[in-house]
Amino acid sequence: MKRRTFLARGGGLVGAAALGSKAAQTLAGGELLPPPARDPARGARLPRSGGRIVVVGAGAFGGWTALHLAEAGVEVVLVDAYGPGSARATSGGDSRGLRFAYGDRAIYTRWAVEAAQRWRVRQEEWGTELMLTTGRISLFPALTEATRTTMSVLEGAGVDHEWIEGAEVGRRWPQVAPAGVGGALWEPDATAIRANLACRVVAANVEAAGGELRVARALPPSDGPAPAAGRLPALGFEGGDSLEADAFVFACGSWLAGLFPDLLGDQISVPRRDVFFFGPPAGDDRFSHPNLPNFSEGSRSVYGFPDLDGFGFKVAPFGGLDPFDPDTDERVPAAHWLRRAREYLALRFPAMADQPLVHSRVCQLENAPGDHFLIDRHPELENVWIAGGGSGHAFKHGPVLGEYIARRVLGQETDPELDALWRVSAPD
Ligand SMILES: Cc1cc2nc3c(=O)[nH]c(=O)nc-3n(C[C@H](O)[C@H](O)[C@H](O)COP(=O)(O)OP(=O)(O)OC[C@H]3O[C@@H](n4cnc5c(N)ncnc54)[C@H](O)[C@@H]3O)c2cc1C
Repeated sequence: MKRRTFLARGGGLVGAAALGSKAAQTLAGGELLPPPARDPARGARLPRSGGRIVVVGAGAFGGWTALHLAEAGVEVVLVDAYGPGSARATSGGDSRGLRFAYGDRAIYTRWAVEAAQRWRVRQEEWGTELMLTTGRISLFPALTEATRTTMSVLEGAGVDHEWIEGAEVGRRWPQVAPAGVGGALWEPDATAIRANLACRVVAANVEAAGGELRVARALPPSDGPAPAAGRLPALGFEGGDSLEADAFVFACGSWLAGLFPDLLGDQISVPRRDVFFFGPPAGDDRFSHPNLPNFSEGSRSVYGFPDLDGFGFKVAPFGGLDPFDPDTDERVPAAHWLRRAREYLALRFPAMADQPLVHSRVCQLENAPGDHFLIDRHPELENVWIAGGGSGHAFKHGPVLGEYIARRVLGQETDPELDALWRVSAPD
C-alpha cells in the first residue's frame, strides 16, 4: 500500500454535482479542451477534465473506468482490497468468453461487437495478447424461434454466424459426440480473453496514464467520514486513513451489496460457481486451442473452453444458487458439481471422460435483476456512483463499460435508454 498519498487533500471541484460540466471545470480551474476526434476503433478519448476521482475495485468495471478517466486527465486513484484480477474477484481467473449472441437483447450484442474491436486495438497498443480467437458453438436440441431471433440480431449487427446441423457438428469437430444435438450456432469471431492478465494490464495502463493504484480496503460510505450536504467528502479505509476526492465510483462486484446493504441488498445476489479444468491425454491436442472452440449447451446448463495456456479443458456447469462470501469462503470445489462436469464430459466429449482434474476454480457471480448491469448515481450522495451487477456476462464489455461509466461520472452525454436500463431502483 502506498501510504504517502493517504492524506486528506481537497480535490478541485468544490460543490460540483457532476464532474465534467463546464461550470465544474471552471470552478476547478481546469481548462475545458475540445474533445479530440473520436477514434471509433478505440473508443472516444473523453474531453480533458480536472479533479480527483477514486475508483474502488480494479475488476472489469473499475479498471476500465479508471483507465478512461485517467486518459481524460482526471487524477484517478484506483483502489482494490486484493489487487487487480485477484483470485477473489469475479474478474480473476484464467479466461472469460466474448460471444456476440445475446438472444433478443440487441444492446448487449452491439456492445460486444464494439468491445471486441476495442480489445483488439488495445492489445495491439499495449503489445500484449489479451484475446484468443477461439470461435464458439452453442449446442441446441433443435432450431427454435428463440435461436432464429438471436441470429437475426447477429445479422443486424453484422456478426458472422452460421447454423450448423447436428451431424455436421460431429463432422467438423469429431471430438464432440453430437447425440441429441439438433444443431449449433457457430460464432467464428468469438474469443477467450485472458482475464487475470487483462485486469493487471489495464491497471498498469491506468498508472501509465498518470493514475495511482493502491491496495487497500475501502470502508462503506456509512462507516467513513460523514457526508455533508448530500456529498461524500472523503472515503475511509481500514486502518484509519481517508482520501478526499470529488467523486467516488464503487465498482466492487459481489461486495457491492455488503457496502450498500439498504440500497443493493435486495438487488444483488452472490451465488458460487465451480469451474473445472481436465487434463487432455498426453500427446492429444484435440481439446486445446485452436482445435476446439468455446462451447455452451444451455439445455444442459454447461459451458466450457478448450485448453488455453495449459490450464486444461474447462467445463463449467451452472445454475446453483448457493450464496458465497468472496472474502472468507474457501474455494474448494464441490463434489456434486464435479460429478455434473464429468457426466457432461462422458456425454459430449467421451475421450475426456476419464481424464484427471488438473485445476479448478471456485468463484462467485454478482447477479442483478434481469441480468442487467447496475450503473447509477447513489440516490442520496450526489458524488457517489455504483457500477456493477455484471450478472455473469460483463467482462467482455469492459472497454465499452469503462467509457460509459466515465462519461456518466463526468456528466457527459450517454444513451438515456441505457441509463434507464441500468438504473439502481431506490429501496421501498
Ligand atoms: C464463473 C464465471 C464465468 C464468467 N464468464 C464470463 C464470460 O465468459 N464472459 C463475460 O463477459 N463475463 C463472464 N463472467 C462475468 C464477469 O466475470 C463479471 O461480470 C465481471 O468480471 C465483474 O466485474 P466487477 O468489476 O463487477 O467485479 P470484480 O471483478 O469482482 O471486481 C471487484 C473488485 O472490487 C474489489 N473490492 C471490493 N470491495 C472493496 C473494498 N471495500 N475496497 C477495495 N476494493 C474492493 C475486489 O477486490 C475486486 O477486485 C463470468 C463470471 C463468473 C463468476
